[in-house]
Amino acid sequence: MLVAVDPSRPCGACELCLQGHPNLCLHLRFCGLFPDDGALSELINVPASTCFRLPEGIDPVAGAMLEPLGVAIHAVRLGGIKAGQSVSVHGAGPIGLLVIQYARRAGANPIFVVERLPWRRKRAVAFGAVPVSDGTGSPVDQILSLTNGRGVDVAIEAGWAGELVQQALDATRFGGRVVLVGIPDDDTLTMRHSTARRKGLTLMFSRRMKFTYPEAIQSVRKGEVDVTSLITHRFPLSAAAKAYSLNESYGEDVVKVMVLPDSQLLV
Ligand SMILES: [Zn+2]
Repeated sequence: MLVAVDPSRPCGACELCLQGHPNLCLHLRFCGLFPDDGALSELINVPASTCFRLPEGIDPVAGAMLEPLGVAIHAVRLGGIKAGQSVSVHGAGPIGLLVIQYARRAGANPIFVVERLPWRRKRAVAFGAVPVSDGTGSPVDQILSLTNGRGVDVAIEAGWAGELVQQALDATRFGGRVVLVGIPDDDTLTMRHSTARRKGLTLMFSRRMKFTYPEAIQSVRKGEVDVTSLITHRFPLSAAAKAYSLNESYGEDVVKVMVLPDSQLLV
């Protein structure tokens, strides 16, 4: 039987778990964090409660993508996106590209994308986003111009949370909502207070995801979200170090790099 594994293991008994927020569990364990093994191995022992059976026809590699897809689903949910609302996505890495697809599924229109790497921007456009960072002028000015000076209903930051945070605030309309998904290198958040205050913005910080696997599986099964095309590179387990360094390089055409314990999946 093929299953997808949620790498997190909430305790199920703490205040946050009992309030329905297992992603905020106070005693969270996680695959790859001591004392739990990570997935860079041919076999891994996990509790059945963290396994989700995959229906026939779902590629095992797509099954592994349900984790990042869950992060995107959670972010779109936090944005409270309704049909017809305008959205901007700042950063189109794997998470941003999944956010774009899921926002579109939620009925968002238009969806603007700010992404400096051309091959990632091209993919965002293929998923229906309008690019606003082609190097000719400010992305924020372009978003404001394309929304008649109003700004978007919801902005989702899915980059490294540096300058993109202020950019997301600037792109959002008065009374709008900003979801912060990216994790900054220096663990610091910088933004102009007046932008958020004067616009009366709602800021949502996204922490992993919760209750997303069943929905993610159905979305992939129905073809509503394309996860497999994001996998640009595949490596066998023996070349895991190479996979990590390629991912870190942000080299041309790199979107999602995957390490496969079963070499039959390398094809
Ligand atoms: Zn807990």
